[in-house]
Amino acid sequence: MTEQGGLLISISGPSGVGKNTVISEIRKQFPDFCHSISVTTRKPRPVDDKGHLEEEGVHYYFRTREEFLKMAETGEILEYDEFAGNLYGTPSAPLKKMVDRGQNVLLDLTIAGSLALKKKFGEDAVTIFLAPPSLEILRSRLEGRGSEAPDVIDRRLMQAENELLQAGSFDYTVVNDDLDRAVMMVEDIIRERFGDKPGQDLDL
Ligand code: 5GP
Repeated sequence: MTEQGGLLISISGPSGVGKNTVISEIRKQFPDFCHSISVTTRKPRPVDDKGHLEEEGVHYYFRTREEFLKMAETGEILEYDEFAGNLYGTPSAPLKKMVDRGQNVLLDLTIAGSLALKKKFGEDAVTIFLAPPSLEILRSRLEGRGSEAPDVIDRRLMQAENELLQAGSFDYTVVNDDLDRAVMMVEDIIRERFGDKPGQDLDL
């Protein structure tokens, strides 16, 4: 960790592993952690049943593919990846600003995104791989959602199998067999790496 810099913690895992739930629990435990608002080429999604959509600069920065690629070319995006046909990337300047201010940042990235972050930030980034207890359990979780066709589930599982091979490149692997336990393990990792007061502004 740089003398005054903040730390980056990035959580990734295969589709259906429960990453969103774990991340939102961790955000509740560590409310001082900053968000990194990503840039994406996907369209804003509804956030409720009243027709409200995700907001520009709140949920994401929504850009065309052309705009996105230009940002990547000029270094405005420090890492990016494709997920389900859309591009997602971390804007460089806001992240650098937060780190320089000594703020800690929690990121929700694809597996390639976490690995790219680690490569750029080394010890200043902590990467956590959230793994399913088994591929069979992941299959039943994906089937349980009822939102994907069987061929899509098969594809997701094949992808998950490949993704599990990358767990070894992460700093930590947490198996999500039980939500509370997984959240507790992530909390322990954060406390261990970030000291007693992970949300504190180190500039103080
Ligand atoms: P969603 O469309 O559900 O909001 O996000 C899809 C996936 O994109 C999430 O699993 C999340 O991990 C990933 N993602 C969001 N922002 C970024 C980013 O800036 N970089 C990378 N590499 N992945 C991202």
